[in-house]
Amino acid sequence: MDKAEQQSELDFAVIGSGFGGSVAALRLAEKGYQVRVFEKGRRFAAGDFPKTNWHMKRWLWLPLLNFLGPFKISLFRHVTVFSGVGVGGGSLVYANTLPVPKDSFFAAPTWAHLGDWQTALAPFYRKALQMLGATTNKHLTRTDTLMRDVATDIGLDKEFSPTEVAIYFGQPGKTVADPYFGGDGPDRTGCIHCGACMTGCRHGAKNTLDRNYLYLAEKRGAVIQPNSEVVTVKPRHGGGYELSVKQRLGWLRFRRTTVYAKQVVFSGGVLGTVNLLLKMQADRRCLPNLSPHLGHFVRTNSESIIGIMSHDQSYDFSQGIAISSIITADEHSHFEPVRYGAGSGAFRLLMAPHAPGKTFWQRMGAMARAVTKSPWGWVKAVFINDFSKQTLILLYMRSLDDTLSFARRHSPWLGGLKTMGSNVGIHGTKPMAFLPEATALAHRIAAKINGVVCNVFPESLLGIASTAHLLGGCCMGTSAADGVIDTHHRVFGYEGLYVVDGSAVSATPGVNPSLTITALAERAMDLIPPKTEARPQRGQ
Ligand SMILES: Cc1cc2nc3c(=O)[nH]c(=O)nc-3n(C[C@H](O)[C@H](O)[C@H](O)COP(=O)(O)OP(=O)(O)OC[C@H]3O[C@@H](n4cnc5c(N)ncnc54)[C@H](O)[C@@H]3O)c2cc1C
Ligand code: SF4
Repeated sequence: MDKAEQQSELDFAVIGSGFGGSVAALRLAEKGYQVRVFEKGRRFAAGDFPKTNWHMKRWLWLPLLNFLGPFKISLFRHVTVFSGVGVGGGSLVYANTLPVPKDSFFAAPTWAHLGDWQTALAPFYRKALQMLGATTNKHLTRTDTLMRDVATDIGLDKEFSPTEVAIYFGQPGKTVADPYFGGDGPDRTGCIHCGACMTGCRHGAKNTLDRNYLYLAEKRGAVIQPNSEVVTVKPRHGGGYELSVKQRLGWLRFRRTTVYAKQVVFSGGVLGTVNLLLKMQADRRCLPNLSPHLGHFVRTNSESIIGIMSHDQSYDFSQGIAISSIITADEHSHFEPVRYGAGSGAFRLLMAPHAPGKTFWQRMGAMARAVTKSPWGWVKAVFINDFSKQTLILLYMRSLDDTLSFARRHSPWLGGLKTMGSNVGIHGTKPMAFLPEATALAHRIAAKINGVVCNVFPESLLGIASTAHLLGGCCMGTSAADGVIDTHHRVFGYEGLYVVDGSAVSATPGVNPSLTITALAERAMDLIPPKTEARPQRGQ
């Protein structure tokens, strides 16, 4: 390494600015390290988010079409994945909901042998809740009353509670100086309950990562580089890593730069981190010694997302925050009502009747039965005025494991990742598009609101599950023979590499996972000593 390279070498390169990357950026900067965060998406100001999701160019991430919005839809053979892209990662489009998982998550056999996770993570959950500005939702709506009624009908009235959310409520529409970090953070504006959290908050009320962790990290010297995708990570002779960064300069215009870093944190979310690491594993010059378990045990949080469209125009399900209440169905399962803001009806383009069935023909039969049972209901549903006002989205999640694997696609045209339905029988089943409990619940709600039950079409037509909570793929183990990282999030086989994001989650939380990702990241960063101290050795 020449002198110039030595001088430009970062202490830490952080790849991705979601929950894991943001925690890493702040905590490493606080410890005196020189940190640079590379984020492939753009930076968003409040006014950059679309007014509704019909503004596809501002909503969707489709860079080939120059759509640089924060919401990405990835279609695979076994799963459709929704995720966030941009400075702040998934926090830009998430529904702010921050539940702590039930005991069964911490005791799951996939990682319980590696530590007492409940005890180890407890202080970091507290820290994460405080940093993300979590507070109890105090504004319950007609939708929540309806959900409480449904819960009462099935004997779950005591299990209903308002959500803990990362939102500043204050006085609706009133801007105040930073209410969270003693004046060190940015202003906030009181939430106006417009329901638009998942297209991006245009009002400055949502505590996205660029308003807490990343904001403070930049103040402490971390550099955040948007529009910059890390495409290779290579070890260097004598230690450290060489990263190749593809910087977007304009539509289909890129510049490649080389960056040197002593240590690297992979925080690209499951799709970003697993994709990059699998690519590096396949290249003998890069990271060929990564664990053979890379890409295995990917989990969907065992989710079922179902729409219930009411043709009773007196309902307006779009009012409130994106997820306003949560109901515990049993030891393993939770459900929540979810909403988009008024006018955000783009998902109606993807809707088909809810049609459970193992085979294509079973699903076609179920679809035909649904339509013939309520033909007039479906005609009215097709022509409803405002999809988001008249659709209640039901999110059902279970902590029971379902897993699949990701592998590299070798086609030069398609590139990237492909899913394989393997690991079945090791931990759980492959993700299912339909959960009988969720279907029964959706029909119960539909009966109450005079509605019809629907799904996105990959579920109804192809039986492919959908998820906004993809987890795993770089799971913890005792060595490369049974995991990709150790309990300190250090990558087996390579000194100075870490995985700190959803791909490190090694069991199924069964609730919205961002708080857990943040708590794990806080713990991982806590284990790294300040710059002046010696680096920890494996096994410590
Ligand atoms: C619509 C929606 C609603 C949701 N609601 C909730 C909710 O209410 N509560 C909850 O807990 N969770 C929710 N989630 C899930 C939550 O957003 C994710 O679990 C979480 O964001 C994952 O965090 P992460 O740190 O793994 O990575 P992410 O937040 O996904 O961030 C990864 C970042 O890395 C970037 N990146 C990837 N690869 C590269 C690369 N090679 N170079 C540079 N940058 C790269 C990506 O662009 C992205 O910005 C929701 C998700 C969606 C899509
Ligand atoms: S409900 Fe509206 S104002 Fe409140 S956080 Fe969500 S998008 Fe922002």
